[in-house]
Amino acid sequence: AKTEGRNTVQYFSEEMDARSRHRAQLLGALKMALARDEFVLHFQPRMNLDTGQIVSVEALLRWDSREMGKVAPDVFIPLAEESGQIIEIGEWVLREAIATLGRWHGLGLNHLSMSINVSALQLLRSKLAGQIRALVDEFGIPEYCVELEITESMVLSQNSQPLSNLWALKDLGVALSLDDFGTGYSSLSYLKQLPIDALKIDKSFVRELGPNANDNTLVQTIIALGHSLGMTMIAEGVESEEHLQTLRQFDCDEIQGYWLSRPLPAKECLEFIQAHEQS
Ligand code: C2E
Ligand code: CA
Ligand code: CA
Ligand code: CA
Repeated sequence: AKTEGRNTVQYFSEEMDARSRHRAQLLGALKMALARDEFVLHFQPRMNLDTGQIVSVEALLRWDSREMGKVAPDVFIPLAEESGQIIEIGEWVLREAIATLGRWHGLGLNHLSMSINVSALQLLRSKLAGQIRALVDEFGIPEYCVELEITESMVLSQNSQPLSNLWALKDLGVALSLDDFGTGYSSLSYLKQLPIDALKIDKSFVRELGPNANDNTLVQTIIALGHSLGMTMIAEGVESEEHLQTLRQFDCDEIQGYWLSRPLPAKECLEFIQAHEQS
């Protein structure tokens, strides 16, 4: 039994070693990623349910590392946040996303907005409003066509910097939406005080939508509450015709998800939008 115990400990620590080695490798590769031009943005369209028009696309970061292969954002974004690199990466994302929107506006898609995910550290550290003002000037798009997606935890922090950044963005005229809505803990009365324009209902709620009406009341209630606060209600993770019909019935404003399109490389997303406009 004694040797067994020792083996277990040894086995366990080997596993720990492997894991921290992998983490260190990821962090090392991440440091080189910007310089090596290993990031690319994919774009996922979002549709208004009343008009059928594609109103916005969400920029989603992709990393194909020379050493580590394709790494999912759920893995590398938290690492980049811990290491502080998310500031630099986030600036790259802002520039790339706004430049892409500039090109698409130039092709006549003037009504289109670009949704960009920002991380807690960016809201805490960066002068986001100033950066975005410079970028919309450079690429010639109206500031209201830029939409930033933040999460509840970012504005619940004790620090006042995220909130003052939020108001500066609001003053600039940038649109603000709350991502993963329903998974956090903020009260509606608190949300009401924030300069938020839209709520994105988390895909974990949308996934549960089905033929059994009882399961659907939560989403119906979320949409009604959001509307009572004057928010545009967006559902993410819409995968099926059934999801879509249920959300329509509940007067959800906009949808995003595999039912409409997966996130696509820029060229393919542009072609998708152009084809959609003609249909
Ligand atoms: P998110 O902002 O909630 O993005 C939505 C995620 O759902 C994306 O995963 C998207 O590919 C996925 N998705 C879209 N439609 C469907 C669907 O119908 N069904 C399902 N099951 N999933 C769907 P992705 O691209 O892997 O991104 C994961 C997360 O990484 C994002 O979640 C966001 O929090 C973060 N992220 C991605 N790009 C950036 C970025 O540029 N900056 C920052 N700070 N975070 C980013
Ligand atoms: Ca998002
Ligand atoms: Ca989300
Ligand atoms: Ca409507």
